Amino acid sequence: MQSQWRTLSSSRTINGDDSILPVLIVGAGPVGLTLSALLTKLGVKCAVLEKSGSFSKHPQAHFINNRSMEVFRKLDGLAEEIQRSQPPVDFWRRFIYCTSVTGSILGSVDHMQPQDYDRVVSPVSVAHFSQYKLTRVLLKHLESLGFHVQCGEGLESLSGSKILMGHECISIDTTANSVNVTASFLKEGKYMKKDIKCGILVGTDGAGSTVRRLVGINMRGERNLQNLVSVHFLSQELGQYLMNERPGMLFFIFNTDAIGVLVAHDLMQGEFVLQMPFYPPQQKFEDFSSEVSVLAGVLFLCEILLEMCERLIYKLVGRNLADMDVIDIKPWVMHAEVVEKYLSCDSRVILAGDAAHRFPPAGGFGMNTGIQDVHNLAWKLASVVNGIAPTSILSTYEMERMPIANFNTALSLENFRAAMAVPAALGLDPTIANTVHQVINNTVGSILPSKVQRSILDGVFAIGRAQLSDFILNKNNPLGSSRLAQVRRIFEEGKSLQLQFPAEDLGFRYLRGAVVPDSDRMEEPNAPTGRQQDYVPSADPGSRLPHMSIRALSKPHSEEMVSTLDLVSGDKVEFLLIIAPVESSYRLAQAAFEVAHDFNASVKVCVMWPDGTVDAVARSKAALTPWDNYIDVVEVRQSATLKSWWDLCRMTHRGAILVRPDEHIAWRVKSRVVDDFASEMKKVFSTALGFDSI
Ligand SMILES: Cc1cc2nc3c(=O)[nH]c(=O)nc-3n(C[C@H](O)[C@H](O)[C@H](O)COP(=O)(O)OP(=O)(O)OC[C@H]3O[C@@H](n4cnc5c(N)ncnc54)[C@H](O)[C@@H]3O)c2cc1C
Repeated sequence: MQSQWRTLSSSRTINGDDSILPVLIVGAGPVGLTLSALLTKLGVKCAVLEKSGSFSKHPQAHFINNRSMEVFRKLDGLAEEIQRSQPPVDFWRRFIYCTSVTGSILGSVDHMQPQDYDRVVSPVSVAHFSQYKLTRVLLKHLESLGFHVQCGEGLESLSGSKILMGHECISIDTTANSVNVTASFLKEGKYMKKDIKCGILVGTDGAGSTVRRLVGINMRGERNLQNLVSVHFLSQELGQYLMNERPGMLFFIFNTDAIGVLVAHDLMQGEFVLQMPFYPPQQKFEDFSSEVSVLAGVLFLCEILLEMCERLIYKLVGRNLADMDVIDIKPWVMHAEVVEKYLSCDSRVILAGDAAHRFPPAGGFGMNTGIQDVHNLAWKLASVVNGIAPTSILSTYEMERMPIANFNTALSLENFRAAMAVPAALGLDPTIANTVHQVINNTVGSILPSKVQRSILDGVFAIGRAQLSDFILNKNNPLGSSRLAQVRRIFEEGKSLQLQFPAEDLGFRYLRGAVVPDSDRMEEPNAPTGRQQDYVPSADPGSRLPHMSIRALSKPHSEEMVSTLDLVSGDKVEFLLIIAPVESSYRLAQAAFEVAHDFNASVKVCVMWPDGTVDAVARSKAALTPWDNYIDVVEVRQSATLKSWWDLCRMTHRGAILVRPDEHIAWRVKSRVVDDFASEMKKVFSTALGFDSI
């Protein structure tokens, strides 16, 4: 079947030539590590280059959304390990708005609902787990898959399964057969170079991606939205206080001395990150204190910085912390950008994660979108490397993931604006600070001496923060009382920053790519609102397969329940066809087996029996022989109010659903199985395997 297409020659070469590593990943952040785990499970040899000599301990991301947890759930219990290791949910379910961490509370929002635990829409719940801890868990998992973290020179054998630390990708060159990568590394005080040949290079090297720059891909969107400083510190005393008095994940703090957001990464360990806005060049690290001189020396500078951070933490916490230990201080810039393309060099250089998109962190979509990028990409790479699909399937990665990145950029911007609603209601217009800052930098202000520029900025900030004084912000002051009432309304109406976005988290859908639409016109998603909306299960092509609890009929006495998502293998590239035990659907299944076989692809059939069925196995066996890759399952409706499988999917039991290896729906027929099964299945597999994208 495939021979008629431009297809597998390159992938066969990749597999056949031992000097070419099938997939090289640049960047061992959470996205690169997740991709290595997914590929290794799918049997694809890969290795990772990481420029740092060690893994970052800066906590950074911490909210893992439902869909990412579903991806981790398929990595041999990784989601369960995250859930076991994260702090108890009661310590992080709230956002607290206050005048200082120990001062008056302006409002508090609980972001967890009973449905977040009842496993009705997903077999797993969201998690709060710092990025460096996730990296550690991913590394442990990779080691269990045979990976080695190598600190010195390595990769001589190109056998894959290595993470090469201290190796920076510095150049990329492509030939007819391979992508040639040069990595620079330090040996005995000298920079050395190593050349590595690979079939496909995936750049997961973060927001400042070298891979992106080397292949000349630009980003589009809004740049430099806000400069921030993150101060990572430990204080058991603060953790203990908050656990007892006011546990929460984010503390939005507004007072006359300082404004900032405290992220409680782990109250039990007393681990925090303080985020503060920062206005360069008038404010810069070495300019935080007028006492600092350029000649002051790094140590002195660090001490001044530490002192300054400690003073700021004191102002925001509202009391001295005897055990405070500042670990590090990092500046970072918020952007809202997506690459103009995800693929380069004939689809042999591919971007994922922050290398492809960088969002404001509001809503926690950055890392989550990256993890879902590589979940989309992994099975496609495996299909190419294993000779099942042509390289053109890789273009469906861009077709599917780019609209999601664009949507999540807009959503993160809306969330960022929602986060500004409370300060704006308190009389702090954050846009004023940014506007004054821009005016100083871009217009006549920039010719003023830097001290004057700094005084103007400080003056504007002080006037802004004065709005938060007890004199103004109290219920006896008409202005203060109306502002406080407005803040209350924002909370009551759910217009402050949300933690969960179920409609976008589980409900995102691919409209074009390796999917066969129901009709010619696919409905575009509504523009993001920044407000929380429920996830509505859908079996529309491109959607994630809805979750429902099921039980295998082959184990009639077992109480063990699994999710419909568990029917999709994480260990091989395999499609899943879900049918009801109906004669015409069995015939469709026979056709699917035959066509998949012709495509050199694998398909498993799931026969979904209605709730209460006890024994029906003989019927499927008779209808599906000689094929044996099928499973009979019975739906489990845990309460009478819950819908049956086909109702949940808004289909009839005469319908059928073909699911891709990433659990997204490739094709479905709602109620009547088509007449010519074989030709319909050929069309479907051809699209789902990217033959149509050539
Ligand atoms: C304050 C803050 C809070 C956040 N909170 C959340 C949240 O709650 N949820 C969420 O989903 N996201 C969040 N994010 C975003 C999240 O941190 C990023 O999206 C995530 O780190 C992206 O992962 P990545 O693997 O793509 O890139 P990175 O984590 O940046 O990893 C890239 C890796 O590539 C390496 N590298 C770079 N260049 C090279 C090279 N030339 N050669 C070899 N290696 C190279 C780097 O050393 C690094 O290890 C937050 C971000 C910030 C700043």
